[in-house]
Amino acid sequence: MPAAAPKDDLRARFARLIATSGPISIAHYIAESNARYYASRDPLGVTGDFTTAPEISQMFGEMVGVWLADIWQRAGGPAPVAYVELGPGRGTLARDALRVMERIGLVPQVHLVEGSPALRAVQAMLVPQAQWHDDLSTLPDDLPLLVVANEFLDALPVRQLVRTANGWRERMVGWDGERLLPVAGDRPMDAAIPPELADLADGAIVETSPAAATVTGEIARRLAAQGGAALLIDYGHAQPRIGSTLQAVRAHAGVDPFAHPGEADLTAHVDFAALVPIVGQFGSRWLGTVAQGAWLQAMGIEQRAQALASRFPSQAEAVAAGLQRLVAPDAMGDLFKVMGLAAPPWPDGAGFA
Ligand code: SAH
Repeated sequence: MPAAAPKDDLRARFARLIATSGPISIAHYIAESNARYYASRDPLGVTGDFTTAPEISQMFGEMVGVWLADIWQRAGGPAPVAYVELGPGRGTLARDALRVMERIGLVPQVHLVEGSPALRAVQAMLVPQAQWHDDLSTLPDDLPLLVVANEFLDALPVRQLVRTANGWRERMVGWDGERLLPVAGDRPMDAAIPPELADLADGAIVETSPAAATVTGEIARRLAAQGGAALLIDYGHAQPRIGSTLQAVRAHAGVDPFAHPGEADLTAHVDFAALVPIVGQFGSRWLGTVAQGAWLQAMGIEQRAQALASRFPSQAEAVAAGLQRLVAPDAMGDLFKVMGLAAPPWPDGAGFA
């Protein structure tokens, strides 16, 4: 008897579904693959699949904490106030930011939005005082929010439209009997394309993230209603762009996004330009979108690195290497962007001038 595919093999499940009901959307594919991917593992660090800024150096979370404490202080230091983090990974950023905030006299409630049971358990070790949420809907609605999301929006599903000889179609995931692969859907999607993009060449792909737009709108709506400020940090582009940015990473190497659903981290670049108008539509202020390297430098990361190096000489080399990875233009400094939002009565944030 041939070996049956294991019951929980997501690739086999997608193959069966597509073979019987036809291709699924890219967004469906990403949402289900990432839910499976994050649910059962801690993917961060050298032994995992990828490394993020807070895992590179404590200075990253510290600069975030300094920014939040500064804007909170200049807003009059309202209390109570809540620290909210979306997709906190191992909880490292929260721990480092909260430590700095406490030194400045800010001790907020802590609310973590995290879908993964495995990561919630890891976060509870570093941030035991936290309360957890499946999504933003259950966050407190009666106090100002200090919101942080680092490499969260990039993990949300994107939708893709592709130009074909027959007009615009949704880009889908099909099954050719052996592998999952991108195919054009059979329903016309021309009405979904903005007029200025309608005449792109065959093969052109237009990518949008309805999920990132929804989350940004909800943050902006809450800031306007409750007060507060937010930092959205991710790799992405400040200007609109054409083409697919979907990528998969496994064991620190890029792999085919359709080869290992649920076993590789699927991400797409965040289109920060598309998020800016949403902030205003929901009543909040956009403070700016700047490169991570420039923002960290404006927040004083170099001075912090010097202080750490002189206090812990044995760590000087590691501190310098971490600083370099976070700010250098050929490392994370340019590709990653920091976008700031605030409630209308709140002051401007540091580092966005
Ligand atoms: N911010 C962390 C981790 C980034 S990885 C860091 O910088 O190290 C992405 C994080 O978002 C993980 O914690 C993952 O479990 C969470 N996540 C991804 N999609 C999610 C969703 N739809 N709802 C809630 N959390 C999600």
